[in-house]
Amino acid sequence: MRVAIYPGSFDPLTCGHVSIIERGLNVFDKVIIAVALNVRKKGALFTLEERIDQIESCFTGKNIEVDTFEGLLVDYAKSRGTNILLRGLRAVSDFEYELQMANMNRRIAEDIETVFMMTEESHFYISSSLIKEVARFGGDISGMVPEHIVDPLYKKLREEG
Ligand code: ADP
Repeated sequence: MRVAIYPGSFDPLTCGHVSIIERGLNVFDKVIIAVALNVRKKGALFTLEERIDQIESCFTGKNIEVDTFEGLLVDYAKSRGTNILLRGLRAVSDFEYELQMANMNRRIAEDIETVFMMTEESHFYISSSLIKEVARFGGDISGMVPEHIVDPLYKKLREEG
């Protein structure tokens, strides 16, 4: 069985992420969505539990699993018995970072393969951070995040003040 790990912060899950996961399922038997307990990105808007719920409720009946990981992604992949990482690519700016990460990961674990999927053109400008910016100032984010995340996102941002 071919299992791919799709790592990220997913704060929140966007339609761009959903698209990559769905397309990943066309290629792999199972996709493990690995939510990073990130050392660098402090101050997530949604709690880990909320993010896991949001993702799970998007893919009921599909062969996905939502998990969390800490530390090196390559170690996590090994612990899950796979060597395949799935990543999405948007702009050229993603490319540089992703190329660096993919090579570093292969350097520290030589059997690791990172598989990239190009974002759909309707999603290429979508990022969790930009969506939060737009929503914070009352902009319309429908169609950018799954429907069940729209209201919770506005609510969270109001609570945050
Ligand atoms: P990170 O914290 O690693 O930036 P994200 O949650 O922002 O994680 O994204 C996880 C993965 O999804 C990355 O590979 C990122 O490039 C990809 N991704 C994010 N947004 C989109 C999008 N709109 N279209 C395609 N891929 C995307």
